[in-house]
Amino acid sequence: MQSRTVLITGCSSGIGRAAALGLKKRNWRVFATARKKEDVRELKKLGFESHSLDVSDSKSIKEAVDWLLEETGGTLDALINNAGYGQSGAVEDLSREILRKQFEVNVFGLQELTNRLIPVFRRQRRGRIVNISSVSGRISLPYSGAYSASKYALEALSDALRNEVRSDGIRVSLIEPGVIRTKFNEKAQGYFLPIKEKRTSHHYKSYQKISQGRQKELPLRVPPPEVVVKRIIHALESSRPRARYLVAKEAYLFIILKRILPDNLIDFAIRQRMKKYRTKQSHLIKK
Ligand code: NAP
Repeated sequence: MQSRTVLITGCSSGIGRAAALGLKKRNWRVFATARKKEDVRELKKLGFESHSLDVSDSKSIKEAVDWLLEETGGTLDALINNAGYGQSGAVEDLSREILRKQFEVNVFGLQELTNRLIPVFRRQRRGRIVNISSVSGRISLPYSGAYSASKYALEALSDALRNEVRSDGIRVSLIEPGVIRTKFNEKAQGYFLPIKEKRTSHHYKSYQKISQGRQKELPLRVPPPEVVVKRIIHALESSRPRARYLVAKEAYLFIILKRILPDNLIDFAIRQRMKKYRTKQSHLIKK
C-alpha cells in the first residue's frame, strides 16, 4: 500500500520532531520541514524528505509547497501546523513589532501555508489539517498575553475553517497541550530578551524572577512530546477525528475550572499563583 503523505512545520525539535519520528514509524511519508538550513540537513540525515520552511516568510512558504507538490505529484494527505513560539511580557510592554512577529509565525504564516494546501485537499476530496494550539488558546495568563492572543486567534480561525471545508472531505483538528517537555521555554527566553532587559518597565523585577524560574528543570510530571503525538495520530488516522484534543492533566483541569468558576474567582486564583513573581518595582522609584 502506498504511504500516506504529511507535511509538518517546525521539526527541528520538540513536538514537530517527535511527530515526524512517530509518523514515520507508522509508515507515513513524512515531509519534515524546519526554519534553519542545519536542521534541514539533520532531518535529511535522519532519513526524512526535508526542505527549509520559515512560516513568517511568504516566499519560503511558496518554495516549500512547490517542492512538496513536485515530490508527491500534486497530492498531500495531511498538514500538521506545529511551528510556533511563545512571546512573554506584560501586555503594556508589547511593542507593535513584537506583537506582530508573534502573529506572523503563530497565525498569519500558519494560515497562509494552510490556504495554499486547501485546494490540493479539495481536489482530492480528502485531507487532514492538524493545528497545534495550546491550553493558552483557552485561558490567558499574565505575561503570556501575546502568545495566548495568537493561540486564541488560531482557535477562532480553525473553528471557522472546520465548518467551511467539512463538506469537501477536509477535517480540521486542534491540539491543545498543557506544558510539554520540549525546548519551548528555552527558546522563549531568546524572544523574551528585548522585553526582559527594558529597565524602564514597571515589570522589570518580575521579569528577572520569571526568567530565573524558566532556567530551572521542569518537574518530573511534565510529559514528553510523544503524548501529543498520540493525539496527532488520532486526528490523522481516525475515521472520526475530534475538533479538539486537550493534552496533559493540567490542561483538563484549567478548562474544567474555567467552565465552572466565575471569572472573578479564576482571576483571584491566577493572582495568587502569580504572587511569587510580584515585587515592589523599587528600581523605578527615584530616590
Ligand atoms: P520547540 O521545541 O521550541 O519547537 C518549536 C518549533 O517551531 C521549532 O522547530 C522552531 O524552529 C519552530 N519555529 C519557530 N518559529 C518558526 C518559523 N518562523 N518558521 C518555522 N518554524 C518555526 O517547542 P514545542 O513545544 O515543540 O512547540 C511546538 C508547538 O507546540 C508550538 O506551536 C507551541 O506553541 C505548541 N505548544 C507547546 C507547548 C509546550 O509546553 N511545549 C504547550 C502547548 C503548545 P527553530 O528551532 O528554528 O526555532
